[in-house]
Amino acid sequence: MAERLSLPGFVDAHSHAFQRALRGRDEGRDFWAWRDGMLAEAARQTPETVRSGYAQVYRELRSAGYTAVGEFHYLGFEEALAAWDAAHEAGVDLVVLHTAYARGGLDRFRQESVSEYLGEVEELAGRGVRIGLAPHSVRACPPDWLEEIGRYAEREGLPLHVHADEQPREIEECLAEHELRPLELLARTGCLSPHTTIVHATHASAAELDLLAESGARVCLCPTTEANLGDGFAPVEGLLARGIPLCIGSDSNVRIDPLEELRELDGIGRRQTGRRDLFSPASLLAIGSSEGAAALRLDEWHGVEVDLGHPSLRGIEPERIPGALVAGCHAGVLL
Ligand SMILES: [Zn+2]
Repeated sequence: MAERLSLPGFVDAHSHAFQRALRGRDEGRDFWAWRDGMLAEAARQTPETVRSGYAQVYRELRSAGYTAVGEFHYLGFEEALAAWDAAHEAGVDLVVLHTAYARGGLDRFRQESVSEYLGEVEELAGRGVRIGLAPHSVRACPPDWLEEIGRYAEREGLPLHVHADEQPREIEECLAEHELRPLELLARTGCLSPHTTIVHATHASAAELDLLAESGARVCLCPTTEANLGDGFAPVEGLLARGIPLCIGSDSNVRIDPLEELRELDGIGRRQTGRRDLFSPASLLAIGSSEGAAALRLDEWHGVEVDLGHPSLRGIEPERIPGALVAGCHAGVLL
């Protein structure tokens, strides 16, 4: 039997499992057109489709080496319970990042008030669901909701995940409404702390990155989705220069492969700087595993094994395996 190497499992800190259904479809001319198709897909979900469909996606994630998943969930309360069941069935450790949605989107995304939202969070936690807070974005949540959710996360020691700075239009709208950029608004409303994970930060300014560094917040990058949606290049050089912790997410699940996410992340940094030594292989593997677990506040999660007999590892010396995984392998080497 071929030898195996044990590694910490990969952690997918940002998934929308239902969006897997959009893979391969005509996805529209830009992010906003893609979003229309995504909303149509969201509208047709039921607790039953979530239970069966998510179990399939989580099995796909698990077979690609992700053993823990943060599901950024905005389809409703019953569907959150169904997602929890699906993860159990597929054998992945799930954190339901239950979303607060005050305005926009679909009816099913929204709560009437922030106290209704926090009531849902408490009910889910009471039923044994591992939970995190997720104000969807500064588009979907006004400042008073953000303040309340930031305070609650701090008091309860819960992770707080929020989309920010993915698309230029979101920043323009935030500036028009608040005269602040999204990360400035999140800082002002008490939503930036070491518990916080900012998803994307693609178009964050230097001043916004400084705010992240001061607060101890981390950033979840989802490079294959960000490429597919035409979001832009993550500011890898600026994040790294400030020592901002990073993790990865499969996000839309258009592609499911943690090694490819890490390779893209490293590749963006190499293209931006002309340097090849921004990340060590060990630090990239940590971004793919323990850093994601920290973002989800998970202390334990399952490991994975590398198939050392896989053709893509032929001729690689043992000490070069981590580098070879990130540079030249796909998730098929992970067992
Ligand atoms: Zn997302």
